[in-house]
Amino acid sequence: MAESTSSPVFDAEKVTVIYVLGGPGAGKGTQCSKLVDAFGFCHLSAGDLLREEQNREGSQYGEMIRTYIREGTIVPSHVTMKLLENAMTEEMKKKTGDGWVDGRGRFLIDGFPRKIDQAIGFDETVCLASLVIFFNTSEDVMLQRLLERAKTSGREDDNVETIRKRFRTYNEQTMPVIEHYRTLNKVAEIDSTAAVEEVYHAACATVTNLFS
Ligand code: ADP
Ligand code: AMP
Repeated sequence: MAESTSSPVFDAEKVTVIYVLGGPGAGKGTQCSKLVDAFGFCHLSAGDLLREEQNREGSQYGEMIRTYIREGTIVPSHVTMKLLENAMTEEMKKKTGDGWVDGRGRFLIDGFPRKIDQAIGFDETVCLASLVIFFNTSEDVMLQRLLERAKTSGREDDNVETIRKRFRTYNEQTMPVIEHYRTLNKVAEIDSTAAVEEVYHAACATVTNLFS
């Protein structure tokens, strides 16, 4: 079979993509919000984009997305990848400031890729990622954090039954993605058991190192 000769939509020489992975409740979103301010990233959360699409009036995918999220399983990759690509294209048009001149950009892509086909597909067709930041802690810690978050999040999937399913999905489908990037020497693993500021300190050091 002939090899694909098309190049990714975004040139990785100009557009920095950092994937942010870790189990549900590991603290990905919390850390991304802080890194945005310090480094001028655009933070795109795959989960947030999917929830937005789920709630968008007239979406052909709304019901399907709701079902996958409720079951703690992975929404079909073509949907998630297209939402990310569209969001990146929009940000490239409108974002300005440090890191965003002359066709440059910098993205934290949170909760993605959660499955190996997404990893390979996105790297090949959208933008080759520079780094994976992997926030790692125990299931006990993640469970406690999610149950605390459940008091205010209003999220249908922040309940014990779905959280258990999300852990299973993560172990079975997302851990192989992390292993894939480990073999490429692209993983920066950070213990996210500690307090938010301590984890942030380590995350900042990792990003500074990438940009230096
Ligand atoms: P994720 O995006 O990985 O699912 P969040 O960033 O939403 O996780 O964090 C899950 C919950 O844990 C949130 O309520 C958040 O405030 C809290 N949290 C995040 N990081 C820490 C931390 N280092 N220590 C204690 N609580 C944390
Ligand atoms: P999160 O907001 O990251 O906790 O994700 C919530 C849910 O959204 C997950 O349990 C999945 O059902 C779905 N989801 C998030 N990210 C992805 C992704 N990269 N691919 C497919 N589904 C995803």
